[in-house]
Amino acid sequence: MSTELEDYSHKRFNILTGEWVLVSPHRAKRPWQGQNEAVNNEKRPTHDESCYLCAGNTRINGEVNPKYEDVFIFTNDFAALQKDSPDFSVDDGLLIAQSEKGICKVVCFSPDHSKSLADMDANEIQKVVFAWQKEYKELGGNDLINYVQIFENKGAVMGCSNPHPHGQIWSQSTLPNEVDKKNTQQLNYHQKNGSSLLGDYLAQELEKKERIIFENDAFVVLIPFWAVWPFEAMIVPKAHKSSISDLNEEEAYLYAEAISVLTKAYDKIFNTSFPYSSGIHQAPTNGEDNSHWHFHMSFYPPLLRSASVKKFMVGYEMFGSPQRDITAEKAAQMIRGLV
Ligand SMILES: [Zn+2]
Repeated sequence: MSTELEDYSHKRFNILTGEWVLVSPHRAKRPWQGQNEAVNNEKRPTHDESCYLCAGNTRINGEVNPKYEDVFIFTNDFAALQKDSPDFSVDDGLLIAQSEKGICKVVCFSPDHSKSLADMDANEIQKVVFAWQKEYKELGGNDLINYVQIFENKGAVMGCSNPHPHGQIWSQSTLPNEVDKKNTQQLNYHQKNGSSLLGDYLAQELEKKERIIFENDAFVVLIPFWAVWPFEAMIVPKAHKSSISDLNEEEAYLYAEAISVLTKAYDKIFNTSFPYSSGIHQAPTNGEDNSHWHFHMSFYPPLLRSASVKKFMVGYEMFGSPQRDITAEKAAQMIRGLV
């Protein structure tokens, strides 16, 4: 790697969004004076009577969860998007708005209240992958739905109010901002070069081996060159797959293994249940040619230098662009040692 990237301030280009991140490696050694939060590493029970996601418990709307044994999915009782919202638009000079319809679901990964993905083995996570595939296909097949966003918010620090292992699926009529940016970047690259943007990027990463954390026959876990969050990571399929529905059973297992390896390593960084937001970006379900899409899963963890010291996106990052101190290469080296 160019030594300038290790020693001097510079900005790196995010090929997927077309945006830049400022990197300040020379600052990584300055003394820390900041907030220290109390760490909560208490053991949770396997079943919590007061948890609305645990098997057999009653949810706020009065429905009773079945005594599920692996993955359980239900339509969100307090969804951010409404399926039956009427079609309307506001086009009043510079005041512009349009109706948005959607369906939101909750995906319980396991009936065991005490677990997280990091505590589940690849076979258990494979069942979650199967459930994601089924939902992507079913929701995407609905005429209302043109994009299916699968994500997880883990940890109180990420604003997750319930520690029960679960994620969400928000599906809607139009492409959300982040997806729209990636759609444009991948489409432009595909039209110009006739190949997958992320596939070509992966080939370069596999050759350099500076930011790879783990790989198996079908997937690579790496810190992207343009990562913003200190321990941001991405899981990318080696073959060109537009969405998770392109994965066969064996590939679904290898995907689950990649998730398992990364989340287990995360927990070892600061010896805590590592918080993050993770999400899958994949082909829209709008019936168009989306062969330019190369699906990937991103993890955005907020922790910076201990279980209680997190990164804030404030000041310059609110008004200018995101910034990081520790380089993607250093972060990859650290996590690789914990796999
Ligand atoms: Zn629970």
